[in-house]
Amino acid sequence: MDNLLPESEKQKIIEKLNEKGVKTHCPMCGHNNFIIADGYFTNPMQSGFQGGLVLGGPSIPTIAIVCSNCGFTSQHALGVLGLLNQPDKK
Ligand SMILES: [Zn+2]
Repeated sequence: MDNLLPESEKQKIIEKLNEKGVKTHCPMCGHNNFIIADGYFTNPMQSGFQGGLVLGGPSIPTIAIVCSNCGFTSQHALGVLGLLNQPDKK
């Protein structure tokens, strides 16, 4: 199965997180090895649930890093990292 994210893109994300001073020390179990989730997350936002779940509305696109020991998952908004709308995206 193909990876969703190419290695070069993961490398760019790692560099950006390092640049921002993100700690790779797990706040839950104390281990210090995180792996990058193999794909972006989109977190849909909506004002309520009266009309059920709404897909395709506003969302917060993120990349997640996952503790390789306990699975604790930390999400980082791509917009804040400056990683949205990259010109090399098809
Ligand atoms: Zn952990």
